[in-house]
Amino acid sequence: MSVRPNSLEARDAASQMHPMVNLRQYEKSGGLIIESGEGIYVKDINGKRYIEAMAGLWSVAVGFNEPRLKEAAIRQMDKLPYYHTFSYKSHAPSIELAEKLLQMAPVPMSKVHFTSSGSEANDLTCKMVWYRSNALGKPEKKKIIGREKGYHGVTIASGSITGLARNHECFDLPLDRMKHTSCPSYVHYGKTGETEDAFTQRLLTELEDLILREGPETVAAFWGEPVMGAGGVLIPPAGYWQGVQAILRKYDILLVADEVICGFGRTGKMFGCETLGIEPDVMVVSKQISSSYMPISAILVNDRFYQPIADESARLGVFGHGFTASGHPVASAVALENLKIIEERDLVGNAARLSAHFAERLAHLAKHTLAHSSRSIGLIGALELAPWEGTATGSAAAAIAAAAEEEGVILRSVGEAICFCPPMIITQSQLDDMFDAVGHALDKVAARREERAAE
Ligand code: PMP
Repeated sequence: MSVRPNSLEARDAASQMHPMVNLRQYEKSGGLIIESGEGIYVKDINGKRYIEAMAGLWSVAVGFNEPRLKEAAIRQMDKLPYYHTFSYKSHAPSIELAEKLLQMAPVPMSKVHFTSSGSEANDLTCKMVWYRSNALGKPEKKKIIGREKGYHGVTIASGSITGLARNHECFDLPLDRMKHTSCPSYVHYGKTGETEDAFTQRLLTELEDLILREGPETVAAFWGEPVMGAGGVLIPPAGYWQGVQAILRKYDILLVADEVICGFGRTGKMFGCETLGIEPDVMVVSKQISSSYMPISAILVNDRFYQPIADESARLGVFGHGFTASGHPVASAVALENLKIIEERDLVGNAARLSAHFAERLAHLAKHTLAHSSRSIGLIGALELAPWEGTATGSAAAAIAAAAEEEGVILRSVGEAICFCPPMIITQSQLDDMFDAVGHALDKVAARREERAAE
């Protein structure tokens, strides 16, 4: 595709440096420009409607035109559009949201700190981990263990904890203090003949070996998404998280659960930690907290985490951190209303009820000649494609994602997988429409490949 001169596409390509694209290709091809949204659908500037099978960026739980969120924003804009939470000041929306999150947390949490993005929240959590180690008189306890294929954002610390090469290459990341252990995806990394249990055991041994090699007294925290999202919807085997937690307890290492995608119902329970049986010291949430209508994220910390930090701030006279937008009143008001909607409409129950149908439809797609396997939990899943010989990794998934877009479904390809994470308001018949369209896309690509092979 090349862009028409003076079109919105051309002006976009001429003016913006977009995230996560090949910038040179974007200059020529431009992007898909979305103009409006309604329910699970978005419309482009030419009036074509798409099912947003990724809920934007794994985030628009309540759909794309929820009037209550608009009204909550207007109400707060009218009353107090901005105030901060620095220097002994506060405001009701941030207080109410903090209370709400503490009440919802699946394990006892003591305090909430607000930030505006998942990256910021993970970055600051990392700084707080370091602050806490210093406060405890353990200045050597600073290393952080993330996982290959884990995604925690792109700022300097969070990008370092992320375990994806594309977020490190050429950025001089990761920082030396960040280490990575193996990704717990049995489909991708299980060895031939290795059972799932043996795979889990191997990963746990690798984690313990890494801690012992680095020196347990130097390792402060372990970071993980309950289910990995941006790495390609990677679901750990049963027993994995229980084993990880036993090792972390043994060596006095904190556990940070990144709930940025899993949080607020995605896995069929309110938090991924509940679905996977995780008891974290810190939980990072964002995205579905406000359905991404406003940028906001939150860090929930337990008492063991909070107390040494509070003591140290008293000694120093100040906790020397904060953002202009920390606990932004409009973002907080929208998030509160969004959480109310998730509860009132039982969207978590909707995800749980639809999960079997979602899994079945994915499993049916996995029988297609172009497919390899499927996986899902709650309302998040992926279809793994059979790689195409003689082409770069990701070619099959990219071709299917492009064909799905022609069929009116926006989804995301990661490696050789196409990912699904639809808005949590989706109905069973809308799920069927989504999977029917992706089935057509698979047929179309298969037919095109056959035609090409016959030429
Ligand atoms: N953590 C996880 C698990 C994520 O999926 C993301 C975003 N996809 C982030 C952190 C980073 O969030 P943000 O893009 O808001 O910085």
